[in-house]
Amino acid sequence: MTLFVIGKPVKHSLSPLIHNYWINKYELGLEYKKMEVEKELLPSLIENVRDRKITGLNITLPYKKDIISYIDEVSYSAKDIGAINTVFLRGNKVYGENTDGIGFTRALEKKTKFNFSNKSIYIIGAGGAAYGIISELIKKKVEKIYITNRTKQKTIQLVSFFKTRNKEINLEFVEWKNLTPNSDVDLIINTTSFGMKDNECLKIDINNLKDTLIFVDIIYNPKETELLKFFKKEGFVSMNGLSMLIEQASVSFELWFNISLNNKDIEEVKKICEASY
Ligand code: NAP
Repeated sequence: MTLFVIGKPVKHSLSPLIHNYWINKYELGLEYKKMEVEKELLPSLIENVRDRKITGLNITLPYKKDIISYIDEVSYSAKDIGAINTVFLRGNKVYGENTDGIGFTRALEKKTKFNFSNKSIYIIGAGGAAYGIISELIKKKVEKIYITNRTKQKTIQLVSFFKTRNKEINLEFVEWKNLTPNSDVDLIINTTSFGMKDNECLKIDINNLKDTLIFVDIIYNPKETELLKFFKKEGFVSMNGLSMLIEQASVSFELWFNISLNNKDIEEVKKICEASY
């Protein structure tokens, strides 16, 4: 039996390294592989999960939304996101879950003891990852979320998506032109893929920011984006996306194997990942 991360492209994925480490440690006798697939193959992969030929799937770009039409049940939280990254079997039903948001909040809580309640968060980007993170931030009862994205229409769509589900939420659209977070902001998160290439750097005006502000770039490759380097240099506590990646993987692992991973499992795999690139 095998597990796969499927997407296009997938060659950059660290998921096989992470899951195969835990699979070997817990002597599960399985293998986790990458599979670059065309969209047409998605229904047959889900059938393979139903027939127990595949133990589980992780879904990455660009299929996190498309895959939903082929599974039987979407978890309650993934319904609020409209995208899934984990597929697993319960009884004879194929389920989908999204573990990105919980991976993000767990990673930040562990690294900085950050308490999300009543905090103001400034989010850059309105792609799939932003949806997962915002859904989790709402559960954590943050005070306010500012959201900005290069393509204005996508920001408007995101705000309307969450406001139709929760009228109370304080989600404010911010123009992309000059990224100038207000002084009330406690946490800035870059959820865009801008920064993955050399020398790409968004310009953010940090003049208003409080000293205690935390910056997170959810990109993990490169290890430090130019933006992350900038915030570090300015003296702000900063974190890249590797811990989020490992935490979200640990939630998927638990869904497949009912094994709850401990901090030692997480730290061991983090060291291996860091040494690998
Ligand atoms: P996505 O749905 O394709 O969204 C991409 C986002 O990046 C959009 O907001 C897009 O803005 C923005 N963007 C792309 N190129 C840009 C540019 N040149 N200038 C400004 N904005 C740009 O992708 P996603 O799933 O949200 O993933 C986004 C990033 O997060 C990727 O780097 C991915 O590897 C990372 N990620 C990390 C983890 C983790 O566990 N650490 C988990 C999930 C994702 P437009 O709407 O204007 O195109």
